[in-house]
Amino acid sequence: MLKTMTKLITGGDDKAVKRLRPEIDDINALEPDFERLSDEDLRAKTDEFKDFLEDGSGLDDIRMEAFAAVREAAKRTLGMRHFDVQLMGGIVLHQGKIAEMKTGEGKTLVATLPTYLNALTGKGVHVVTVNDYLAKRDAQWMGGVYHALGASVATLQHQQSAYLYDPTVENPKKGFENLRPISRKDAYLADITYGTNSEFGFDYLWDAMSADISQSDIDQRVQRERHYAIVDEVDNILIDEARTPLIISRPAEESAKDYAKFSRFVATLRQDIDYTIDEKLRSASLTSEGMTKLERMLHVKNMYAPENFRLVHFAENALKAHAVFQRDREYVVKDREVVIVDEFTGRLTPGRRFSDGLHQAIEAKESVPVQRESITCATITLQNYFRMYHKLAGMTGTAVTEAEEFWKIYKLDVVEVPTNLPMIREDKPDLVYRNQKSKYKAIGDEIEARHERGQPVLVGTTDISKSEIISKMLSRRKIKHEVLNAKQHEREALVIAQAGRPGAVTVATNMAGRGTDIVLGGNPEFLDELTKEQWERDHRKIIDLGGLFILGSEKHEARRIDNQLRGRSGRQGDPGESRFYVALDDDLMRRFGGERIQTIMGWAGLEEDAPLENKMVTKSIQGSQVKVESHHFDIRKHLVEYDDVVNTHRQVIYEQRDKVLAGSDIRSNVKEMVEKELTAILDSFLEGVRPDDWDVDGLIEELRKVIPLDEKLGNPDELIDMSIEAIYDDTLALAERRYSEMEEAFTPDVMRHIERAIMLRVIDSHWVQHLTSMENLRQGIGLYSYGQRDPLVMYKTRGYEQFQTLLERIQSDVARMIYQVRSAELRDDGPTARRGRSRPTDAPAGRPSRSQAAPQPPPQQRADAESNGQPMSRAERRARKRMEKKAAKRR
Ligand code: ADP
Ligand code: MG
Repeated sequence: MLKTMTKLITGGDDKAVKRLRPEIDDINALEPDFERLSDEDLRAKTDEFKDFLEDGSGLDDIRMEAFAAVREAAKRTLGMRHFDVQLMGGIVLHQGKIAEMKTGEGKTLVATLPTYLNALTGKGVHVVTVNDYLAKRDAQWMGGVYHALGASVATLQHQQSAYLYDPTVENPKKGFENLRPISRKDAYLADITYGTNSEFGFDYLWDAMSADISQSDIDQRVQRERHYAIVDEVDNILIDEARTPLIISRPAEESAKDYAKFSRFVATLRQDIDYTIDEKLRSASLTSEGMTKLERMLHVKNMYAPENFRLVHFAENALKAHAVFQRDREYVVKDREVVIVDEFTGRLTPGRRFSDGLHQAIEAKESVPVQRESITCATITLQNYFRMYHKLAGMTGTAVTEAEEFWKIYKLDVVEVPTNLPMIREDKPDLVYRNQKSKYKAIGDEIEARHERGQPVLVGTTDISKSEIISKMLSRRKIKHEVLNAKQHEREALVIAQAGRPGAVTVATNMAGRGTDIVLGGNPEFLDELTKEQWERDHRKIIDLGGLFILGSEKHEARRIDNQLRGRSGRQGDPGESRFYVALDDDLMRRFGGERIQTIMGWAGLEEDAPLENKMVTKSIQGSQVKVESHHFDIRKHLVEYDDVVNTHRQVIYEQRDKVLAGSDIRSNVKEMVEKELTAILDSFLEGVRPDDWDVDGLIEELRKVIPLDEKLGNPDELIDMSIEAIYDDTLALAERRYSEMEEAFTPDVMRHIERAIMLRVIDSHWVQHLTSMENLRQGIGLYSYGQRDPLVMYKTRGYEQFQTLLERIQSDVARMIYQVRSAELRDDGPTARRGRSRPTDAPAGRPSRSQAAPQPPPQQRADAESNGQPMSRAERRARKRMEKKAAKRR
């Protein structure tokens, strides 16, 4: 209590903030010096600072001077002088923390301080906004400040567009006049880049997919390093938005017809003649007889030619679906869908799918619709995207309630920065009604009364449907109003800017118009027809009426969002008032604690329509909110914990890709892969097998898939007489020789290029498959908790196994492809970006070169891909190879 008291008196204070005071005084003391500088000299400060940095100074050594320079630039260009508390906020942001600064405190301006300072490193600073409109507005608005200091500013916009702030155009804040179109890459090369979280995140993912190394300009990636980011409305982005990951996906290529064709075909095959089953491995394979049948049916000469691997894969899946998987054992058919039966618990697992085409094969077998899957090409959670920045900072009006999450997930401290002027808004206790009807009636009466007096009212709703209910009610009462649903950011910003006009009634969902200032009397900048005196009169009038009235029509699940709504009023020392209207049958109340409150209301013995205004009730509602908040936190933590598993894989794979894209020499890597693959083949045929039992023909066939053999190794009669050591030595020596021959034929330069091209293609195709299997694994794994296992541990273990398999597959494919080089065209698969599972975002249509370079399905699917949806381990594969060998011998 005492703490809140002191806070009220001093306008909020904190140890962390108190410590900043002396520095603020120092910056203030620098002001006269900076005021005396000419514009040129002010701009020249930037070079001076950069020289200091070059000579070994740290950013903190020039921090005060840099802040003083920014303040001076803002004074000259915007006529705004950073308040002391804004300097404090700037320091907090520079320290890589979250500055909690109330709405209207001028966070846009605060960000200029650390942004400029950190941009001096030349590594680029990202300022992250909640929507495109704000990214544009803020770049334009603050552009002048940066430009006065010689720093360049760009903004990312949707559809892969980007603009550079062009200072030669006057009249900022309107349209695109002072923004010049530039390339996305150039936008990232600017000192400062504004953009939304998804633009930044998706660029990262697109970059990770860029594969066009055929151009002379090898590096097509647009993003530079992720050096420092300031996230505006940080709670919204790092908490609310973070519930859905960023995903780039494309539809699978296989058609339902293909599955049906193969399904019909395998139905004609006979066990032990055309195929054999391995019960233990739950796999089935075609005999050479079956293979011949298949070749005849498909009119292909050689199923094992690389271009036919896809067909083999289809066939194997179809076979597995028919011969190994049984209805009502591994799966059931329900409502024309194939539903997996969990092997440990026997439960049905709707929604989960066998990976790699097996599920479709089963659907074809059961003659139910074959579902076209979308394939995940790249995905990342916002949490893991933003954790990649060397330094991360954030600002918002409401962070303290979520301080724990910010710390646990992002290692971000929250520092409360005091307001510039004392906050005098009156937050009234909640009014609780029995039901919706009495609540809405009371809401209508209240709005009408305020409206008649001329006081502006902002009505907050939890979703669009509630906005509509209120809008209809207001129309019935003939009250003019605006409805905002956070759909058209730019238009809504204009509307919300006038929400403080006399008698204005604005109904808005939580995100609508966020980031736009509500000035009492209306925002004069947008009111062309208004004279200065008129505006002054309106402004005074609204102040006398008590400022903007915030009416919350329902409590949100999170207290933070309620506080956010309240914060729209009472900015910069304005008067204001807020009140929430609650009914016992509101969603939140029904789910949590409604009954208890009902009892209290019963005691109170109130009439039907009379509200209850009671501290206990308000407390109890808060208690419910805390419960919901922590529930959501758990969900997000869960998401991150699972993404962390994939994240370690992503780091390894992307690092490899980066190396390839950067044009490094990977000859030795490729050579090593070839050697390992050949050794593995030799091991599986020769290790522990008595020479009499050697399957020489099988071995030769396998080796041929990697290197063109010579007279000796390609001849069974010669091979059978060689010692094991000689076979190993000769094979590896031959691989080396063949490699040199190719290199001579192609020239080393071309060979280096081929290595990179193959590596990239193989990595990408398998990585995409890996992501899909990991996703399937994740969806399925939740069920293990019933089997007394920790699902996360299971996921990690299985994920690790799958990752090892991934690495093996990459090695194997690279080895098998490198000696068979032919120029192959990359096709356009047109992947699309989307958010989460159901929220499509605009596909980056304007980047044809990139979508062209998108990965394509593996040119060859490994024939031994899966057993029961799980990839096989190396040991399993070897065992499987032996089985095949034996089967081959029997024939
Ligand atoms: P926030 O993002 O913190 O809600 P904004 O950045 O939208 O706040 O700024 C709110 C308003 O305060 C803007 O109209 C801006 O012009 C004004 N403002 C901010 N800082 C200053 C300042 N130092 N001097 C004068 N006006 C300021
Ligand atoms: Mg803002």
